[in-house]
Amino acid sequence: MSREIDELKSTAGDYWRWALEARKLYIDLRLRQDPEIRSLYIRAADRIAEELREMAASTPGAMLRKRHLEAMEKLLRQEAEKLAGQFKNQMDEYIQTAVEAGVGYTKSILSSLFEEAGISTGHMNAMLAGVNRQAVEACWARTKKGLFLSDRIWEQGENLRGTIRDIIQESVAIGQDAVKTARMLERYVKQGKKTLASEYPKMMERMGGRIPGDISYEALRLARTETTAAFGEGTIAAARMSPSYKGMKWILSKSHPITDICDDLAAHDEGLGKGVYAPGNEPPYPGHPNCLCILVPVHEEPEQFVKRLKKWRSDPSSDPELEKWYNDIYKKI
Ligand SMILES: [Zn+2]
Repeated sequence: MSREIDELKSTAGDYWRWALEARKLYIDLRLRQDPEIRSLYIRAADRIAEELREMAASTPGAMLRKRHLEAMEKLLRQEAEKLAGQFKNQMDEYIQTAVEAGVGYTKSILSSLFEEAGISTGHMNAMLAGVNRQAVEACWARTKKGLFLSDRIWEQGENLRGTIRDIIQESVAIGQDAVKTARMLERYVKQGKKTLASEYPKMMERMGGRIPGDISYEALRLARTETTAAFGEGTIAAARMSPSYKGMKWILSKSHPITDICDDLAAHDEGLGKGVYAPGNEPPYPGHPNCLCILVPVHEEPEQFVKRLKKWRSDPSSDPELEKWYNDIYKKI
């Protein structure tokens, strides 16, 4: 087993199964999102290629002309909007699932320890559903360079439109026929720019620098980063609502070939242990796009916390901190 998983287990202590479960949900999500987003691009390219083939069918063997490009503009605009809409729906689901995975760890701990101490968990689900909802909202409200996530998703649609439009325009310029252009578009979106150099050397020479190597790369990167951020948002928000929360540990991912900001974040020491941040002082997560570092809450040991809960249950004044949490947070829901 990898070093980071060992570190995750030792940080979680008795709660290691739930920590692994949360990590697994998150990793499963990360693994399925790349092919899901790629397929949105592939389907868009297929529809555009289909339209080009239909044009060719009316005048077989004809070269693409300017009027064809003009006729395609409307469709490209529609496809850009469709892609952005579908991508947004996917992101909605990714954020939802990632937040839940993050919240889930603290939820499992609290529910089980409260039950063990004989305290009703009636408010627990409502409290954590609220945390969930707010964390999801926070993800959509975050901005980067002044842009909301929804704006950056919309940009991906525009990138698709711009690139495919460029390719069709270039096909018109060199007099390439519609059927060949349709095939080229499909291959490009599925396999990337590199595969086109031998078959379409003239075209690649002229516009190689203008078209991205992989048309879905930016969207994939955006999805990975925001899904990881959502997992962190849920993890931190739920931990902060928990009276057993002691700090947040940053575990460095082993897939860091070079030293970067994450090495510093994982080496942080404010007296709570290596890489552990005090509640309220959690670092921005992820450290960078494609970051696979782990953020895991450090909670009080189960026996110790259950003992505390039981003592407080029989005498609320014995633990003012728990009493305050119970009245101000738990009961407020
Ligand atoms: Zn990292």
